[in-house]
Amino acid sequence: MTQAQGIQVVGVYALGLRHRFRGLQTRHGVLLRGPAGWAEWSPFLEYRRPEIDTWWQASLEAATQGFPAPVRDRVPVNVTVPATDPTTAHRLVTESGCRTAKVKVAEPGQPFADDVARLEAVRDALGPQGRLRVDANGAWTVDQALLHLRELSRFDLEYAEQPCATTEELAELRRSLARRGVQVPIAADESIRRSGDPERVVALEAADIAVLKVQPLGGVRRCLELAERLGLPVVVSSALESSVGLRAGVALAACLPELPYACGLNTAALFTGDVTADPLVAVDGELPVRPIEVADPATWLADPATQALWRERLAGLPEAPGGPDD
Ligand SMILES: [Mg+2]
Repeated sequence: MTQAQGIQVVGVYALGLRHRFRGLQTRHGVLLRGPAGWAEWSPFLEYRRPEIDTWWQASLEAATQGFPAPVRDRVPVNVTVPATDPTTAHRLVTESGCRTAKVKVAEPGQPFADDVARLEAVRDALGPQGRLRVDANGAWTVDQALLHLRELSRFDLEYAEQPCATTEELAELRRSLARRGVQVPIAADESIRRSGDPERVVALEAADIAVLKVQPLGGVRRCLELAERLGLPVVVSSALESSVGLRAGVALAACLPELPYACGLNTAALFTGDVTADPLVAVDGELPVRPIEVADPATWLADPATQALWRERLAGLPEAPGGPDD
């Protein structure tokens, strides 16, 4: 008997994005239902085994165990600003009601001047009290990051997330920034969830903050253990999931002993629809800790070819779950 028994694949969702994000215009993922409730499995299409097995561990946890008891009933979140023009960026921040903004920078093909203009607009929308962070998704070399963060530091950055690709580069950058008196803390994201060695971030003193994402790291409980081992302040972020996937991120944020930063969990706002009639979108900069009621699949199901593709991906997992007929 596999662990996956008792889990039903309900369908593959297709959700449109308001603005191109991570090169995507539509996000896909699988919704599952198990004895403990709804779960999502949505590793990005370019991800393969064994990386996607970890995502599956998170789905199993949600479907079969549910989440640990929360210590808070709402979690503060940031508005996520894609690599858009300044006017759109300004509007997204104002409409969100969030007091913290995370701005994508270093988008392939865009000049640095676009990043500066976007940050200018976001700082203006937030006001001087708002918190502003950037995410480069590892796109800069150490020299570029030094140059760019020096310039962007005038916007009073809360931190820069994964400015360079490797943990070694982050460590070198962090030392160089300190030597030059540039006060921009470094957050590690890909170095935590994709390097295969999150502890190296601590060993090399490569970051001030750890970004934790539930699916890529194998579930809420594994994230809690990792947070304890790392001993760094944690920012809980999403992997651009539907509200069902976001619910797991909210569960992690809700049970961490300390939550000093706004979470990157307001990404349902980036979609044109959701798998629920009541999406997890921030009100006054916060998300409530609550269950998600999934709407009729007819409102979110992907086309047959996409369904087939994802069912094939699922079937390749070591503990493949059954379909609706199981
Ligand atoms: Mg990131």
